Order: sequence, then structure tokens, then C-alpha cells
Amino acid sequence: MDVRPVACYYLMSLKTYESEGYKKMADRISSVARSKNMAAVRAKNTTPEIYVRKALFKAGCRYRLHYKTLPGSPDIVLPKFRLVVFVNGCFWHGHKCLRGLNRPASNKAFWNQKLDSNIIRDQRNRKELRRSGWKVRTIWTCSLEQGCRNLLNELAALSAALSD
Ligand SMILES: [Zn+2]
Repeated sequence: MDVRPVACYYLMSLKTYESEGYKKMADRISSVARSKNMAAVRAKNTTPEIYVRKALFKAGCRYRLHYKTLPGSPDIVLPKFRLVVFVNGCFWHGHKCLRGLNRPASNKAFWNQKLDSNIIRDQRNRKELRRSGWKVRTIWTCSLEQGCRNLLNELAALSAALSD
């Protein structure tokens, strides 16, 4: 596998996307019935996810998407390396960063219950995946560029080990 440094074209627009998306989401949630809105927490084909996919593609990695049969339906699956990648939004998946730790001030009980159960579900999925031999990596939207770089470095190392 040929791994080249990845140019990060999308980062500026992504940052805007994330903060605006978050604001819009918060607005909408306050006006719409919450339970309905909460049904689809793991959004598919989001911009951060596409960013990671493009980086992998550019580096010559081939992957599968959203393996429904795997726990948590990982965003990106690299069967050759038995490795899955989750591209997680910091707010919804409770990253220990500013966005993830900053929960809404109103409806505290609702949000704590919701976000805590997301975190627990993520942990359970990761555990199940590991138990069946998958390497599980998470890329957070607050550090997308770094996360991609780490992933590509790891894949390059795994690839070198495979061809030894
Ligand atoms: Zn984060």
C-alpha cells in the first residue's frame, strides 16, 4: 500500500459545518418532539466521515462502508486489516473535549440520559468488536486531521507487516 501524506482540504469548511450544524440541531430539537429526533443518532455519510473516506481512498486503502452485520455498524471497515473505524461527532458520542463535555443547560436529565446511553452503547459495541478480533479505531470530529494521519500511519505499518 502506498501511503502519502493527506492534504486536508476540507478542514475549514468542516469546522464551520460542525459548529453551525450543532447550533441548527439544538434549535430544531427545542422545537420538535425530541424522541423522534433522537431515533437516528448515528448519521450516515456525514461530512467528517466522507473526509476520512477520501483520505483513505487517496492513500490507496480500500474499505467497506457501514457493515450492518457488525456491532454498531462501523462507518468504515478495512477487512484486510481486520480494522474498523468509527467517525464520531463529539457531542453525540460524548468525547472528552469541549464539545463533548458541554451538555445543554436545559433539560439536563433528558440529555444526560440520552448522551450517557450513547456512550455506554458505543463501549459495548467496541467491546464486542474486539472480542471477535477487530481492531477498533475512533476518529473524533474535533481532531479529524490528526485522527486521519494516525490511522494512515497505522495502516501503513500494518501493511508493511503483512508484506513481510
Ligand atoms: Zn472532540
